[in-house]
Amino acid sequence: MKIIESLNNKNYINGEWVSFASTLEVDNPSTGEIIGSICDLDKENILRAINSTADNFASWSGVDLDKRVQILRNWHQLIIKHAEDIANIIVLEQGKVITDARNEVIYGASFIEWFCNVVYTVTGSVLDDKGKNQKLITQYEPVGSVAAITPWNFPCAMITRKITPALICGCSVVLKPSEFTPFTALFLTKLLEEAGLPGGVLNVITGEADLIGKEVCNDFRIRKISFTGSTRVGKILYQNSANSLKRLSLELGGNAPFIIFADSDLEKAANDLIISKTRGNGQSCTSANRVFIEAAIYDKFTQLLSSKFSSIVIGDCFDKASQLGSLINNAGAQKIDGLIEDAKARGAKILCGGSAKKNLFSPTVIIDCSDEMELFQTEIFGPVAACYKFSTLEEVIKKANDTEYGLQAYVYSQDLAKAQEVASKLDFGMVSINNPLSSNAKAAFSGRKASGFGIEGALAGLFEYLNTKYINIPIK
Ligand code: NAP
Repeated sequence: MKIIESLNNKNYINGEWVSFASTLEVDNPSTGEIIGSICDLDKENILRAINSTADNFASWSGVDLDKRVQILRNWHQLIIKHAEDIANIIVLEQGKVITDARNEVIYGASFIEWFCNVVYTVTGSVLDDKGKNQKLITQYEPVGSVAAITPWNFPCAMITRKITPALICGCSVVLKPSEFTPFTALFLTKLLEEAGLPGGVLNVITGEADLIGKEVCNDFRIRKISFTGSTRVGKILYQNSANSLKRLSLELGGNAPFIIFADSDLEKAANDLIISKTRGNGQSCTSANRVFIEAAIYDKFTQLLSSKFSSIVIGDCFDKASQLGSLINNAGAQKIDGLIEDAKARGAKILCGGSAKKNLFSPTVIIDCSDEMELFQTEIFGPVAACYKFSTLEEVIKKANDTEYGLQAYVYSQDLAKAQEVASKLDFGMVSINNPLSSNAKAAFSGRKASGFGIEGALAGLFEYLNTKYINIPIK
């Protein structure tokens, strides 16, 4: 693809597209074909990118808000104009099917539109304390230079969700995308440059993740890290940021319960589960990980699910009829294999699927799962519906909460009062009732416990990039 060729072995540092001798290869997970390569940046050049980010903070934060918003609106328009190009890059480097990739681009763009609209509602306050003859001013200021570290599962949306609020608030940014999906990030950067972003305000670098991570954590001039990825890496960044006392947003892993009560619309619940388990090929932090089914409908529902999972269309990722693509790499497929073997050894049964062909994992329904199995506590990250039986509302709430994670949960019931009661007792940052796709730029995306902290989207997503200042002035 021409766009990928033009971005091959490129980083964007201080407003220039630069190449380095040392490179890492990027492949298409569906075919194994090498589609390009990326720079493997050394310490000196990582520092150049951090320097540029720090040096350009003062000028960018001084740019009038209307101007900053205009540049981001231009970016939004360019993303919409090039939506098909971006979707094609995502398919090639990530392995999603084209319809899914197109949806991600629209979802990603929605964060830009939202933050451009809502930023004008952020106002400070002025209060007169007449008793003390003082004026009390509260105002908001950008946190400073920010490092954004993003994963491969949403190569477009995780970037727009971080970069937009950071830039709108006046922060400069150094971005490190995943080594598996660098070209979406680089193309989005090209479009942002075309949209009018001054050079040096955004630096985009690739290379050894732990080296880049250590440099940004140790550098006092980087005042915030916004990270989306695994809980393992989130903890490393948290620890390494202690010395420089940075602000952090950590959007980490999940272990979503998908609770189906007997009074649910079963046909809809099964179809929605397919949506949840095929979006990103099941490699989404919000994907249903533990399917809890009320005993009265367990057999009927799992049979229905199995027949639907068996007809999921697997084909060329560029064919719009295809519903499922490849996992990001073979390690992902092997991990699922291991989880399934463990579950089988402990008494679970496979109703359909259960095997991998290279990076493609067949849509799988596995029943008679229990909380002793590894897949109860592990993010499966693939098109596998692990089904558990429950008898009472209290039991399912207890089981659903029995995880260190606390990101997304789902409740299915036609009794909305009951569903809402369950939702309020689930120890998760987000609960969706009768809806497999509730993520929305206008709403707060946030986890708790091992799923991290910090909010993306909503008005609160802006405050992640703002410091609060209080000024006290005597009144005569
Ligand atoms: P990951 O391995 O943690 O990687 C995420 C990012 O961190 C990548 O850019 C990676 O770079 C980088 N990284 C790896 N080691 C690092 C280190 N020592 N220091 C600094 N950066 C480092 O996660 P992933 O496998 O890409 O993504 C999947 C995970 O993300 C899942 O657990 C999923 O649940 C989670 N996720 C959470 C959310 C949310 O909003 N809560 C959304 C999406 C995904 P390289 O790829 O170049 O190694």
